[in-house]
Amino acid sequence: RPGQRWTMRIAALSGGDRIIFLSDRSALDAADRMRSDFVANASHELRTPLAAILGYVETLQDMNGEANGEIRHRFLSIIDREARRMQQLVIDLLSISRVEADRFRRPTAEVDLREIVQTTIAQLRDSEAARAKDIVAKLGDAPLPMLGDAAQLGQLAHNIISNAMKYGHAGTPVTVELAREGKRARFAVTDQGDGIAPDHIPRLTERFYRVDEARSRSVGGTGLGLAIVKHIGERHQGQLDIESELGKGTRVSLAFPLSEGH
Ligand code: ADP
Repeated sequence: RPGQRWTMRIAALSGGDRIIFLSDRSALDAADRMRSDFVANASHELRTPLAAILGYVETLQDMNGEANGEIRHRFLSIIDREARRMQQLVIDLLSISRVEADRFRRPTAEVDLREIVQTTIAQLRDSEAARAKDIVAKLGDAPLPMLGDAAQLGQLAHNIISNAMKYGHAGTPVTVELAREGKRARFAVTDQGDGIAPDHIPRLTERFYRVDEARSRSVGGTGLGLAIVKHIGERHQGQLDIESELGKGTRVSLAFPLSEGH
């Protein structure tokens, strides 16, 4: 195939026979390329806010105390915002590397998905995020036992609910639902927002993929939220489903297998 690369090794056996080893390098090359693209993207994402912070600090220093209160306040809030962006990016980078490292380790503890989602919603409400008041929870009464890592499932729920809060229109509800579907539990979050065009949907879980870069940045996005969701989902045998209609809104859901006997 075009672009395919092979490595050939020849070993001599006693008696004059030869063994030829052929190995396909392309799979390894692709993994290497993905890794170096990721490092390049991550460095670029960190460099942008860092350049802004250094620029504003330098300007304030150059003004030598002559900046009036209003200018100082404006510059400091930009520095604060950019530093927080870097902080969130570092948190998300650490999460993705941890989640990737755990990918093949099947969770063995039994947890209650309903309790985890309930706790996540309570945390979002406590965080005083302006949109938290718009969360409508329909979690049912029955526990939903499954094998899982509670912290990771909490993060998955947090990322999906915060996206709905970020991309749903102000003042519209963000509905969080849990339902039993036979031997599975479905977690679903629905928002009323701009929605996502169909060609973008398959790419949303790629690291740093954003439909609208400026929009994602202005709402504090890092472009890693759904990549983290994908890995946590796979680790828990959860099937991710994203349905969206332009101009109406989006529904992101995952169906997880319940524990045996439930
Ligand atoms: P981000 O940090 O940019 O929100 P994510 O990985 O969480 O990154 O999501 C990737 C992109 O998918 C977002 O930048 C946004 O364009 C789109 N997206 C995610 N959730 C929604 C949603 N509920 N409504 C509309 N667009 C969404």
